[in-house]
Amino acid sequence: REISTKESNVAKIKVVVRKRPLNKKEISRKEDDIVSVHDNAYLTVHEPKLKVDLTAYVEKHEFCFDAVLDEHVTNDEVYRVTVEPIIPTIFQRTKATCFAYGQTGSGKTYTMQPLPLRAVEDMVRMLHQPFYHNQRYKLWLSYFEIYGGKLFDLLCDRRKLLMREDGRQQVCIVGLQEFEVSDVQVVKEFIEKGNAARSTGSTGANEESSRSHAILQLAIKQHKEVSDTKRQKEGSGKGGKIVGKISFIDLAGSERGADTTDNDRQTRIEGAEINKSLLALKECIRALDNDQIHIPFRGSKLTEVLRDSFVGNSRTVMISCISPNAGSCEHTLNTLRYADRVK
Ligand code: ADP
Ligand code: MG
Repeated sequence: REISTKESNVAKIKVVVRKRPLNKKEISRKEDDIVSVHDNAYLTVHEPKLKVDLTAYVEKHEFCFDAVLDEHVTNDEVYRVTVEPIIPTIFQRTKATCFAYGQTGSGKTYTMQPLPLRAVEDMVRMLHQPFYHNQRYKLWLSYFEIYGGKLFDLLCDRRKLLMREDGRQQVCIVGLQEFEVSDVQVVKEFIEKGNAARSTGSTGANEESSRSHAILQLAIKQHKEVSDTKRQKEGSGKGGKIVGKISFIDLAGSERGADTTDNDRQTRIEGAEINKSLLALKECIRALDNDQIHIPFRGSKLTEVLRDSFVGNSRTVMISCISPNAGSCEHTLNTLRYADRVK
């Protein structure tokens, strides 16, 4: 399969909504599916409400996005709609980001996990083309987490990382390990290793990872002839010059941003940080969309880390994940309103 290298018609910002199917628990509770998707482009949320005299009625909310994917859409199709079109741009000095946003349990991780694997497949195919091969383009992977405003390397025993900016608006995460990758199987192993290292909250297995942002980056670097070979062997990607990169970001559960009144102090601090970062992210994408000169990336650690992806030639895909059950209605509407502000 040929990948087109034309990037002209790839939108700078794309907002896609994905609805997951009702799960067994919701079905056994006989919960209603309150989200209907139409023409892959818009959706209606049927919000169950009660009048003062307790008669039930439904309030309808309609939303329209670049694409709306219903519960029958496969991960492969998600890839085709979201990431596939931007892969060629990464070879043309573009920084791309793909976010999964939504409440815990809405399908962020389910959606996000397979995307870098498919991306690596396509990128490796491009790297084999004589032009990129001769230019000594190589693919590098890193995987880290932002938890409570701090950075941890998921591929290096959760080593704490610090961020530094150089004078040319380039972000450098000091000590972040990068690994050269040339096949999908290796990437799969890295991802599994990284996932196992993600934070597990104190409250139990279900809470796992919902309070952190996981960031997987794939960078295309161009390497000089001899001098870099030694460095590459040492496992540092610094030897090459970045051509372009794509970041896959599995965001913290959006409902966690509301944890700011929780009894537990640590939970409150994390909630405040998540709230801040999701707001800052929204503001940055909006600023990007309006071609604003000033991008408010300093609003949070998340947006600071992604600074170089918000300036210059960039592509942003926001995948908003929603649960279909009546019990999630409020969170679903919050997610859709957030997505609506971004688009
Ligand atoms: P999140 O990361 O947002 O907390 P998950 O991705 O872990 O949510 O999804 C919650 C559960 O729902 C998982 O068991 C997952 O396998 C399932 N799930 C999510 N999206 C889909 C989907 N589109 N089709 C089938 N199952 C899904
Ligand atoms: Mg998850």
